[in-house]
Amino acid sequence: MPNSPVHPAPIYRVRVAVPVYLYDGFDYMLSAAEYQQAAVGARVLVSFGRQNLVGIIIEKLPPDHPLDPKIKLKAISELLDQQPILDQKVLTLLTWSAQYYQFPIGEVMHSALPSLLRQGRPYNLLARMWKLLDDQAEAKLKRSEKQQEAYKVLKLHPSGTSENILNLAGIETATLKALEKKQICYCDLEQQDFSPVPMTLAQMPLTPNSDQKRAIETVLKAQHRYQAFLLDGLTGSGKTEVYLQIMQEVLKQGKQVLVLVPEIGLTPQTISRFQSRFHCHIALLHSGLNDSKRLQAWQAAQTGKASIILGTRSAIYTPLPNLGLIILDEEHDLSFKQQEGFRYHARDVALYRAHLEHCPVILGSATPSIDSYALTEQGKMIRLELNQRAGPALMPKIHIIDLKVAQKQQGLSLLLIQEIKKRLQKKEQVLIFLNRRGYAPVLVCDSCGWQAQCPHCDANFTLHHSPYTHLHCHHCGTIQRKPEQCPQCQHNELKTLGMGTAKVEENLQQLFPDYDVVRVDRDSTSRVGSWQKIYDRIQTSQPLILLGTQMLAKGHHFPYVTLVAILDIDAGLLSVDIRAPERTAQLIVQVAGRAGRGEHKGDVYLQTLRPDHPLLSTLVEQDYRAFARQTLKERQAALLPPFRYTALIRCESKSQEQNQQFLQQHAQWLRENSEQLIDIWGPIPAPMERKAGRYQAHLVLLSQDRARLHFYLRAWWQNMLHHKPSNMKLSLDIDPQEFS
Ligand code: ADP
Ligand code: ZN
Ligand code: ZN
Repeated sequence: MPNSPVHPAPIYRVRVAVPVYLYDGFDYMLSAAEYQQAAVGARVLVSFGRQNLVGIIIEKLPPDHPLDPKIKLKAISELLDQQPILDQKVLTLLTWSAQYYQFPIGEVMHSALPSLLRQGRPYNLLARMWKLLDDQAEAKLKRSEKQQEAYKVLKLHPSGTSENILNLAGIETATLKALEKKQICYCDLEQQDFSPVPMTLAQMPLTPNSDQKRAIETVLKAQHRYQAFLLDGLTGSGKTEVYLQIMQEVLKQGKQVLVLVPEIGLTPQTISRFQSRFHCHIALLHSGLNDSKRLQAWQAAQTGKASIILGTRSAIYTPLPNLGLIILDEEHDLSFKQQEGFRYHARDVALYRAHLEHCPVILGSATPSIDSYALTEQGKMIRLELNQRAGPALMPKIHIIDLKVAQKQQGLSLLLIQEIKKRLQKKEQVLIFLNRRGYAPVLVCDSCGWQAQCPHCDANFTLHHSPYTHLHCHHCGTIQRKPEQCPQCQHNELKTLGMGTAKVEENLQQLFPDYDVVRVDRDSTSRVGSWQKIYDRIQTSQPLILLGTQMLAKGHHFPYVTLVAILDIDAGLLSVDIRAPERTAQLIVQVAGRAGRGEHKGDVYLQTLRPDHPLLSTLVEQDYRAFARQTLKERQAALLPPFRYTALIRCESKSQEQNQQFLQQHAQWLRENSEQLIDIWGPIPAPMERKAGRYQAHLVLLSQDRARLHFYLRAWWQNMLHHKPSNMKLSLDIDPQEFS
């Protein structure tokens, strides 16, 4: 009998994104039965080197896919999910992101998962459900208002309520536990119910003014297809009301809305604005959640249970089966760009996601980024203007104070002191803005000029007096004792130059002893709940001096603030960073926007040594939009971003010479091999050349042809990584937002 031809047994394989510093997926074998079960977008446990890692299946290879005999395939260790946990659209988004930002696919996939899933924990976590045991317990609860409140809510839901929902409604777990102790209720672990909760309106919408109406109607016409909008509305012009009314229509159709806000913007106030308008499940995704809460919120989004998903940057990668609208509020905010590791920009990813999902996306801001303005000019985004403050409030007026000639007392001009006094006497509030923490940024010797400098950075130490006197480097975290006398000439007099918020606080307290000074910065609000207490005080009509950093600049509504003082933004006026003017203008306008949001008109006083700076005159005589138009023209003339696409290579090692040589050599190669399509700047030392004892250098690539830039960059960057010395750190920043 003739021999029958030998058919090799088919080898079943899946390609897995493994969280390691590798740019492609990795192939693993599995049995025929496992292959049947395996789903793209599901997790698997695989061994990699000596580790066991959780990966995501990104492809099922057909059995006849050619096999590379040189590669010894390993088998997967375990299928972790029966079903995909990342849907096809999110997988496409993640794959695109990994390619666009040139970051390892496995790391990118991992950043989209809640940490419990990343660790390989089962998808089906049990929910903590609270149920009533005793429904005649009123008498036992006389003393605690919190317990009465919790009891009332539990009584409304006889089948039980999940702890998550109760927490969202402001009922603390501690209160529930107290009731449990009194045997009034008990906690049960149950399979979670992910059935959708339809939206009902909890509160009537406001009557929109004509600008708002036009914006709402324009966006609603574009439902069910991709269209990007820029909602360009002055501070206090009612952007949130526009979002809410558009959301209402989208939610009514049973669709989900993803709302992204800056890191610092996800305050209880923001959340309550959404909660008080809509009854529906709102999933909150931010870094402050513990792991199991985060998983639950993510699952509510991923299953379609949640209709509104409110989150910070990384929420852009949440799987959403029914997405109908994306909103990105305060779109100019830098926190949408991840500044380390996987350096994506949630704003750009949001545009691409809306494309994939065939839904509209709204970017909103009072001070839109120049990048977004450019997109509207190119017709890629529709601009919607809100030109009046909603309600009775008027736009504040900006006054410039020339510090070179102004008479001063304790760092504040006399004019400003007078104006502050007037407001306080009228029982109004004032807000003083200074973007510098600590007591003083410079400690200097009166006699020889010695300055306290961080030994590891090209930077001065900041003097702090709280919680004890010490020198602190804000760049590397080094802490030192404050010397009693000058270490160089032993002179006894060390004095401070400049002011941080702590010193201004001291000065204000001396100047206005009859009024409270409340400082809001990272040092004073680090305790949980302290910001909420401060916020509640600001909402009462008592005269008050509020003093703070960046934290106060964002989106807040302070109805009793009628005067805003900006003490020192000169560093922003002098910076050489391409985007520094834009950031400075945004900061001034945003801070100014905190003034006069109530019934009284607001005034803004800006102290500066550069009163003639064109940026200031444009903002004072015209407005942010005029500044933006001008900046667009300048960037276009100089072919700066967004008129050229950029990539920034950051290089760090113990020797600047090594950095320079390495970058030089690779730059040369790119110059010779990229058809002259790429302009190369550098290598140049970074603005802060030495940081934490290591030297930093930059190489900037610019091109008008994005596709070609990315094409050449890919091979070149891989090659660079391959050849870099082991003591050197390299990173690639696509579309960098900061050149620091
Ligand atoms: P923005 O988000 O643009 O800074 P907000 O949405 O916070 O502005 O609105 C500022 C204030 O104006 C809020 O108190 C809001 O309730 C109120 N407001 C918004 N739209 C209207 C409207 N159509 N009629 C009356 N008040 C409004
Ligand atoms: Zn000295
Ligand atoms: Zn330092």
